[in-house]
This record gives sequence, C-alpha cells and structure tokens, in this order.
Amino acid sequence: MSAKILEGKPIADKIKEEVKTGVEELKSKGVSITLAAVQVGEDPASRAYIRSQRRRCEEVGINYKLHQLPETTSPDELREFIERLNRDEAVTGIILQMPLPKQINPNEAFCWIDELKDVEGVSPASIGRIAFDMPRLVPPTAMAAITLLESTGEEISGKEAVVIGRSTIVGKPAALLLLQRKLSATVTVCHTGTFKRGKIEEHVGRAEILVVAAGRAELIKGEWIRPGAIVIDVGMNRVGKKFVGDVEFETAKERAAYITPVPGGVGPVTTSILMRNVLEAARWQMELA
Ligand code: NAP
Repeated sequence: MSAKILEGKPIADKIKEEVKTGVEELKSKGVSITLAAVQVGEDPASRAYIRSQRRRCEEVGINYKLHQLPETTSPDELREFIERLNRDEAVTGIILQMPLPKQINPNEAFCWIDELKDVEGVSPASIGRIAFDMPRLVPPTAMAAITLLESTGEEISGKEAVVIGRSTIVGKPAALLLLQRKLSATVTVCHTGTFKRGKIEEHVGRAEILVVAAGRAELIKGEWIRPGAIVIDVGMNRVGKKFVGDVEFETAKERAAYITPVPGGVGPVTTSILMRNVLEAARWQMELA
C-alpha cells in the first residue's frame, strides 16, 4: 500500500490566513509589526531566502527591514548592532541570516538576540523553554515537522520516534518537542556518531515516527523504513536541477503510512510558522508592556 502524502501547502495556507487576521487585529489597535533581518556579508545563497522572507511578510502585512552589514563586521560590532535592535521598540522580531562570515560564531551570535524578539527560536532561552515544557518561540523548521506529524491525527504518545540530525535549528528542538509531555514520544536522536557505527538502519527500522534532518540526499533507504511509519523528511538537497530529501521517497512511500514530499512538505509550513512567530513575538511584547 502506498503512503498518504503529507502536503505542506494546505497547512501553510491555513496558518498564513490566521496570521493575516492576527496582524490586522494588532494593526487595528495601533500596533505595527516589524521584522528586522540582519545580513552580514553578501552570501548569494541567502539572497533568494531574503527575497522570499520579504514577500511572505508583505503577504500578511508585516513590515520587513533588511540591515546589511559588511563582510568584515567584527563579533563586537554585530553584538552592538543586535543589542540596538533588541532595544528598538519599533522592531518586534529579529532574524540573523546565515551563513555568517568566519570570524563570527553563529551559536555565540544567537545568544545576543532577545528571546522576546527571537522569531527563529535560536537563542538559548528559546531552546531552554522547550526543555522546560514551556515553549514560546520555537524554531520554525522543527515546529513545521511536528505540525505535519500532528496533522496525521495519529496517536504519538509512547511511540518510538527517531530523529536523524541534532542541529540547533532542527534536530535538537524537534527531539525536545517530541519529548514534551504534550506529545510524550519515546525519542532517539541519531547523528554522525550513529552513522559511523553503522547503526542508522537499525534505528530507522524500529521508528514508528521518523524525522530526518541530516542534509544528505537520500541517506535513508526506503527498504529500511518500518512498515506503517510516519516519515517527516526535512532535508532539502540540490541534486542537479532538482531538490531531493534525505529519504529515498519512491521506495519509502511503499512502506510508510504517511510521508512528506520534498519539495512541498516541511518547506512551505516552515515559512508560515516563521510568520506566526513574528506575530507571536509582537503579542508577547504587548503582554509585557
Ligand atoms: P546541519 O546543521 O548540517 O545538521 C545536520 C545534522 O545531521 C547534524 O547533526 C549531523 O550530525 C547530522 N548528520 C549529517 N550526516 C549524517 C549522517 N550521514 N548520518 C547521521 N546523521 C548525519 O543541517 P540542518 O540545518 O539541521 O538542516 C538539515 C537539513 O534540513 C538540510 O538538508 C537543510 O537544507 C534542511 N532544512 C530544511 C528547511 C526547510 O524549511 N525545509 C529548513 C532548514 C533546514 P553531527 O551533529 O554529528 O555533525
């Protein structure tokens, strides 16, 4: 039997409409929402991402302001810049574009963003809140993976969930979200150490829920998938002119009960959740004002 394909667009569109209404409500109360994006240097890969962020913001009525800093910006200069945005009442959300030039450690830079404006959920406080079972602004990609999983309506509690990847923006927060009391999955996290020991296939084979965020084209073979599993493929890998996921889709869909396509699965939901975070950040600041 072939898997049910978990398309991201209907979920993304629904979230987008909710955000649009929420933004209009705040505007009617005289609150304007501004997302400040900080780009250090001129990486061509982030140009397309910035264009799409601006378009998404415009669609839902959020102001978007791009700040471009020179490639030679020092860590102290970036810190001062971000701290100025933290203090600026007109700015309700902050995004730090990746990649950063080599003199700046991204994890250190994430620590400088005020958690109230941290719409990408990358600050230690934002990640820590998930561990405390009181999430607020959650990394959009991890949240998109969980939203797609929950859209199946299947029971999650007590199930074997395997996450492949432990990055700060996807793997770790996805694992922490699955571990929350609300979902209560039994969570295993795999990484390159697991791969080097040749243990990925074994873990994948017992996963009732599989979330893959390794950034390696078709790393997970379809024949490894446990029959009836829910497969959430976060991977986005360019192969020639196409994008493929981290899971071998054609063979995996013959074994899984549900699977996300790449592209068109996690990606669109991520963008809508980022917009929702921008709205949530503005609401949070209002609550505390
Ligand atoms: P990342 O920072 O490069 O992290 C990759 C993680 O996967 C690391 O923890 C790494 O382990 C692990 N890994 C790499 N190769 C592995 C292997 N052979 N076996 C097991 N684990 C392996 O990447 P990321 O930012 O988390 O992104 C992951 C993927 O998601 C990428 O394809 C990216 O393009 C995609 N993505 C998609 C969206 C979206 O909206 N659709 C958004 C963000 C990212 P170590 O920690 O041991 O190195």
